[in-house]
Amino acid sequence: MPRYVYDFDEPAEGGRELLGGKGIGLAEMTQLGVPVPAGFTITTDACRTYMASGGELPEGLEEEIDEHLARLEETTGKRFGDPDDPLLVSVRSGAAVSMPGMMDTILNVGLNDEAAAGGERFVLDSYRRLIQMYGETVEGIDARRFEDALDEDLPAMIEAYKAIYEDETGRFFPQDAREQLGRAVRAVFESWNTPRAQAYRRYNKIPDDLGTAVNVVQMVFGNKGVESGTGVAFTRDPSTGEAGLYGEFLADAQGEDVVAGIRTPEPVEAMRERLPDAFDELVETIRRLEEHYKEMQDIEFTVEDGKLFLLQTRSAKRTAAAALKAAVDMVDEGLITREEAVVRIDPGQLDQLLHPRIDPDSSYEVAATGLNASPGAASGGIVFDADTAEERGKDGSAVILVRWETTPDDIHGMIAAQGILTAHGGMTSHAAVVARGMGKPCVAGCEALSLDAAAKTASLNGQKLNEGDVITIDGGTGEVIIGEVPLIAPEINEDLETVLGWADDLRRLKVRANADTPEDAAKAREFGAQGIGLCRTEHMFMAEDRLPVVREMIMASDEDERRAALDKLLPHQQADFEGIFEAMAGLPVTIRLLDPPLHEFLPSLEEAKDDRMRARIRALQEANPMLGTRGCRLGLQFPEIYEMQVRAIILAAAAVHERTGDAPLVEIMHPLVAFQEELRRLRELTIEAASNEAEAEYLVGTMIELPRACVRADEIAEEADFFSFGTNDLTQTALGFSRDDAEGKFLTHYLQDGVLERNPFETLDQSGVGDLMRIAVERGRQTKQDLKLGICGEHGGEPDSVRFCHTLGLDYVSCSPYRVPLARLAAAQAALSEAGVEAVSVGG
Ligand code: PEP
Ligand code: MG
Repeated sequence: MPRYVYDFDEPAEGGRELLGGKGIGLAEMTQLGVPVPAGFTITTDACRTYMASGGELPEGLEEEIDEHLARLEETTGKRFGDPDDPLLVSVRSGAAVSMPGMMDTILNVGLNDEAAAGGERFVLDSYRRLIQMYGETVEGIDARRFEDALDEDLPAMIEAYKAIYEDETGRFFPQDAREQLGRAVRAVFESWNTPRAQAYRRYNKIPDDLGTAVNVVQMVFGNKGVESGTGVAFTRDPSTGEAGLYGEFLADAQGEDVVAGIRTPEPVEAMRERLPDAFDELVETIRRLEEHYKEMQDIEFTVEDGKLFLLQTRSAKRTAAAALKAAVDMVDEGLITREEAVVRIDPGQLDQLLHPRIDPDSSYEVAATGLNASPGAASGGIVFDADTAEERGKDGSAVILVRWETTPDDIHGMIAAQGILTAHGGMTSHAAVVARGMGKPCVAGCEALSLDAAAKTASLNGQKLNEGDVITIDGGTGEVIIGEVPLIAPEINEDLETVLGWADDLRRLKVRANADTPEDAAKAREFGAQGIGLCRTEHMFMAEDRLPVVREMIMASDEDERRAALDKLLPHQQADFEGIFEAMAGLPVTIRLLDPPLHEFLPSLEEAKDDRMRARIRALQEANPMLGTRGCRLGLQFPEIYEMQVRAIILAAAAVHERTGDAPLVEIMHPLVAFQEELRRLRELTIEAASNEAEAEYLVGTMIELPRACVRADEIAEEADFFSFGTNDLTQTALGFSRDDAEGKFLTHYLQDGVLERNPFETLDQSGVGDLMRIAVERGRQTKQDLKLGICGEHGGEPDSVRFCHTLGLDYVSCSPYRVPLARLAAAQAALSEAGVEAVSVGG
């Protein structure tokens, strides 16, 4: 029979997956000799068995719990259920992956009327908390019922709480300690599947079947008086990464008071005077923990009558800026290597640094200031509840979620909002922690903000605000501004530069950018792009001064008329290309010839100005334009279009070479090729058109974005100098999912229902689309060993897909300029992972 329960000081094989983050942390701290309360962990295995059986406790679990409880009684010298001075325990959730505040915890289990009777203040307070937490968690009683019954007089409050319990459940509050424990354990198992926990997992891409462990821990009391207290602390500042103890402390209180933001805590330094011995021990202990884990830690602690206990340690959630600073500092301190530093930065998190901030040159009036809880700036219409935030966010409106404080139930609104503003709570309040994890701007604890959520109004330093009124928040400074303020894109900071420099030394994949304008190209180089992997020429056709000429070209009744219009377009195209080549100063630039169906350049039927245009629009109409006359099909039907583009490219390359001395490495790319014969003809056309212009070096290649092109890659490679995987179209055509219609329709449903775990347009479908790519790589290189291979679909900037491209042996990935830093990092991690260097994660 499998074993389901382990004491903290017992060795267990299964590690974090089995014991959960909290459980493994407690076990490791016990081994390190860090002061932690005694207790045991019920494994995630037990939770999974419980869920699989539809809510039956696994066989033998009750007996195992009894045995471990007996041992805990021995260790502590107290008895569970004893009417005098009983053993009390907390029952805490703890999954393998950190899900802060998403699941339940019940404190003070084991108390009852008899043990509480005539007890000290803290005993009575503990009992009323037990009834409340147990009522909410085990019985699902609405928290507001208990909040409404808050009272100064504790015995009266206990009676009121018990009455609420009876009223809601039809039963008395259970007096049997073992019954309390059993039901608390079940409730924690159940809390794995609450809607808020599910929403959190979806957002963070955590699998649904991991389950949570349950930790049964001897209670220590931070609410015993002035010699007691509780707090949270980080080994470095989680916002900036600055070294040194950082945290909050609340005297005479229990842990959930801090987390829930019910009372506003003091900086942890406040402990130094009041509880100097415990403070010194805290400083020394977390220094040891950081040295042991070689990673920034986030701990929860309690002081009971002057004695320090650690309740949890985990690797700290931090902003990208803090992660980078801490990693760079730790390399300087000799704690970790450069490789380890590179491996531990989450590439997805870098997005945060590349978030907008308020333009420092703009002038604005700060209406109020709160805590700078999560960096970045955002503007949006204010909303006062998570549901409205979600609704309006789905409509594409920018919203700022404004709350007294947030709770885990607000998670869907926080996901939808551009930023979060709370009136209450500290740097470790729910809003602050969750927003930092999401990389969203958050200003917390803004005391000048008062709210009337029911009336949907707020007042900010006396100025009245209604739902929908626009505000701007700056989570880096804590400033709140009424109205919109100009935001600017940030530049790469020094720590990021350092880490990316290390990453560049370690990676094999090159990183290019998708850019259609000289401005994008310049941004791309600033972010470290080594070339342009995709320049979509159609965007140049859309510009206001070009569109009339493009329409002239499409409306042309014969080839001569069409050529005349194209001749007018040529100088524009040439100028565009010159700008881009100049910005890239001799680096490779892949230019794709016209791709979209022509009707995209025409007005709608209703807007057409005459019968001739209406007739042309009708003639060009197709039922499935994405599978219609587009890409190279267009180029073969109207060769003069591609001829003009090739001429413009070659002329531009020659002009820039002459002007700057840098010869651009031009790669001319044909889209949507399925057959060798298509590319054979287009290659001929390209060489012919180019040879009539100037001397310039260039390559001719194709996008690989159709399944047929993948499986016939050996033939297609005969005509190509390079392949670039267009995984947007390849995903669309391989899956038969319309890239225009799937999202927001059945694909959204698939993701919600778990038919698919990840959006294949976001993260490459490695086993399907990825396998087609593998075939194309193998067969293409069979024909041409030195065939240049890249990817320019959206996946080229998604960390997991970048790793996959590394293992496929591609030469480069290409993505939007803002994702270039992320791709550089992910490429280095892929190389390190191949060499066996992986990130370790700590705590939970
Ligand atoms: C692609 O299909 O992946 C691609 C990059 O081209 P586009 O998105 O322009 O169709
Ligand atoms: Mg495409």
